Amino acid sequence: MKIAILPGDGIGQEIMVEAEKVLDALRRDGMKIETERAVIGGTAYDQSGDPLPDATLKLAQQADAILFGAVGGTQYDALPRDKRPERAILRMRKELDLFANLRPATVFPELAAASSLKPEIVAGLDLMILRELTSDIYFGQPRGIKTEGGERVGFNTMLYKESEIRRIGRVGFEIARKRGRKLCSVDKMNVLETTQLWRDVMVELAKDYPDVELTHILVDNCAMQLVRNPKQFDVLVTGNMFGDILSDEASMLTGSIGMLPSASLDAKNKGLYEPIHGSAPDIAGKGVANPLAMILSLAMMLRYTFGQAEAAGRVEGAVRKVLAQGLRTGDIQQPGMRLVGTKEMGGAVVAGL
Ligand code: NAD
Repeated sequence: MKIAILPGDGIGQEIMVEAEKVLDALRRDGMKIETERAVIGGTAYDQSGDPLPDATLKLAQQADAILFGAVGGTQYDALPRDKRPERAILRMRKELDLFANLRPATVFPELAAASSLKPEIVAGLDLMILRELTSDIYFGQPRGIKTEGGERVGFNTMLYKESEIRRIGRVGFEIARKRGRKLCSVDKMNVLETTQLWRDVMVELAKDYPDVELTHILVDNCAMQLVRNPKQFDVLVTGNMFGDILSDEASMLTGSIGMLPSASLDAKNKGLYEPIHGSAPDIAGKGVANPLAMILSLAMMLRYTFGQAEAAGRVEGAVRKVLAQGLRTGDIQQPGMRLVGTKEMGGAVVAGL
């Protein structure tokens, strides 16, 4: 297993060290894991003037999987767009054709009280949101701001090719097969032709997956159902823009941004794995960041790229164990629990393993 390690900026560097401790523990158990580190984001810009240096991209291309921390920082906000740290991750997704973004929203029973919803609505939630990542209105041409009839007009193009819908749809059916066999496709076919095509292609694909139950929901209703009764869903599949919004909404059901991993996969299951949160400049360098989303991203890597479901389950089990022991970082702190820092939390997961 060749893994490129890209810590990035801010807390990305602190939480990656904890994920590397877990990798070391797995190595000691006999797993054949090779890792190589490279700079990305603001750290890379500081060194070379490029947030995604060629050497880093090459390493990512040659690896089987990429473990990514986070990028960004207020000191880079005034840079031209193509030099900004966030550009590195966008470009890497495009270069590696990572079109399938998996975002689980899982509520550990110990943390059900951290959600802004009532615990009984979210306790035991285990939902997977699959978002298409390389097309849709974020990439469609033409786009821009022009002047027409004496005023400014902004415009973007929502565009999906049949082949793009088909490949993300297939990933959705395959994931549903490995879970509860229920796939719900999200669209806005009542007003948008692009998503009428989306729905038509999903219906065509369903013929190849008779063992999976396919349903459809309009995006506005989906946003409502996610806060009304999120446990009705198993796997949701949707386009880039709807997925962007719904996956952030779903992440809040769980209560902490510091607990949620994600994966972006290509057609051969090569993947980039990262926590959903950013570089958290407000707490960077203080040793208080929650490393669990990073460690759970590693567990996803074992499951989805390397097919090591047993090892993935062990890492997830170790995370559950430390939560059950009452250890909490500041973002998930509850009365009566023991407040720990990044290092202690990572160390406890390794001990749990
Ligand atoms: P953020 O996710 O970095 O932080 C939001 C809030 O959540 C902050 O208060 C932060 O302290 C807290 N938080 C985040 N992760 C945490 C963790 N592991 N443990 C404890 N608390 C945690 O989002 P932001 O503040 O909007 O963005 C900061 C920077 O990160 C920006 O430069 C942004 O562009 C970048 N960003 C990068 C990525 C990425 O690398 N994929 C994603 C989102 C944002």
